Amino acid sequence: MIVLKFADKDLIVVGAGIAGIHAAIAASRRGLDVMLVERNGSVGGISTVGLCSPFMRFWLGNESLVSGIFEEVLFDLHRRGGLLRNSFDSEILKIVYLEKLKKAGVMLALHSIPSKVISTGRTIMRVSFLSSSGCMFSGRAKMFIDSTGDASLAKMADATLLSGNDDGRNQALTLMFTMSNVDFERIREDVRSRRENFFKWVSPDSNPLSVAGYFEEVDEAIKKGFNRLHDYFFFIELPGTGRVSVNTTHSFGRDPTDPFALGQSVTECMEQIDQLLSFSRKYVRGFEEAKIEKIAGDVGVRESRRIKGLYVFTGSDVRAHRKFEDGLVKATYGIDIHSAETQKMTEKVKNSVPEYSDYYEIPLRALVSSEFDNLFTAGRCFSSDFEGQSAGRIMPTSAGMGQAIGMACALALESDKSVSTLSKNRIIEGLIEITDRESEHSFERILREGV
Ligand SMILES: Cc1cc2nc3c(=O)[nH]c(=O)nc-3n(C[C@H](O)[C@H](O)[C@H](O)COP(=O)(O)OP(=O)(O)OC[C@H]3O[C@@H](n4cnc5c(N)ncnc54)[C@H](O)[C@@H]3O)c2cc1C
Repeated sequence: MIVLKFADKDLIVVGAGIAGIHAAIAASRRGLDVMLVERNGSVGGISTVGLCSPFMRFWLGNESLVSGIFEEVLFDLHRRGGLLRNSFDSEILKIVYLEKLKKAGVMLALHSIPSKVISTGRTIMRVSFLSSSGCMFSGRAKMFIDSTGDASLAKMADATLLSGNDDGRNQALTLMFTMSNVDFERIREDVRSRRENFFKWVSPDSNPLSVAGYFEEVDEAIKKGFNRLHDYFFFIELPGTGRVSVNTTHSFGRDPTDPFALGQSVTECMEQIDQLLSFSRKYVRGFEEAKIEKIAGDVGVRESRRIKGLYVFTGSDVRAHRKFEDGLVKATYGIDIHSAETQKMTEKVKNSVPEYSDYYEIPLRALVSSEFDNLFTAGRCFSSDFEGQSAGRIMPTSAGMGQAIGMACALALESDKSVSTLSKNRIIEGLIEITDRESEHSFERILREGV
């Protein structure tokens, strides 16, 4: 094995999903020398390769709860025609991310994973990385951020990890896909005329159009031998013409960190996609001429391992809309668990309509490892219980965590303080200082103008 390079950095971020990207950009803009290491050949994780859209609720009334670099991303997507209110185009998002990483001066290493972590006491000293071409490189840094979603860096450092519900079972996995050639007028008419055939929250006038249900059609198709369907069909409008993102496949009871289980998940989801194509063309009004446009390159993992931080964020923090002295990331999205066992619908789920009346905060301490002084996290592997993670995992909140911890790392190194002692206001001011003014309040403008 050849050791290619030795990188000596201020900060190494592992995992270039939405959380890691925001962390790397924030830290680099503040002056840190940053390396971002990603296992895929593209950046963005679930937000791009995983084809997830839209950005789930991150606003209250007309006020956006996540600003900073995330608002710049929205602004740049909008400018390029890649945003429909909160729904976005995954390919344009890749362009936006890479442009921002390059401008910020972040060193990007692709197709690489950590292979060994060297630590002394409470400090991570060095990480060796292995690339898919069989080369190794080694990175020393003052600080490390694990934004792998699976807490893979922390796992290699032998840190304590949390995972799954009380029985240790993880949420269901979903392979997302997009379809084109969809007739939205027919869909809206259908929803208007048969409201009971859909979840109660579905509105024919929503923008982007988001529809879940088709209970009658699914029942009938199952009777006719469509044996891979679950209880409902769910899609969301994408920017462009006649395009939707479909969030309907489910793989239950698999360990998302087991490569063989992932192989089974992708295979069974692909079989479901095959059947969903025929189902939608045959049964769903407006999908008669629909085509599969893209299938995600990575199966969507909602939840796997989580890092144990100085604070473990909980479902009761979400329900109580709890605020903290070090509450850095504001969010309003509620607890959202896709069962580990089944997608069976209950009347309660069909009739529930989410309410957004207040926000909660994720504290800085939930982004700081309790075992290593220079290990931090952001995104879906943040320090949380099963319910807390199910709310905090969404893309805008993951972006908010990323930019907050990236800035906190930079300020801590600048002032020779530990991250957890930094004042919340200083971190927020730091983020304001590095944010492009042009994009300020861009999402609030979009909400007001109804674009
Ligand atoms: C099916 C599904 C649907 C969803 N729908 C929505 C939605 O509609 N709206 C919404 O807001 N949120 C949604 N979410 C949640 C949201 O997309 C994710 O929780 C969020 O994107 C997580 O971001 P992240 O950066 O923490 O993780 P990820 O996007 O998973 O990024 C982690 C990155 O780390 C890389 N990586 C992993 N391991 C390693 C390693 N060992 N070495 C190097 N790199 C590594 C991965 O390749 C990836 O790029 C959905 C999630 C799923 C699974």
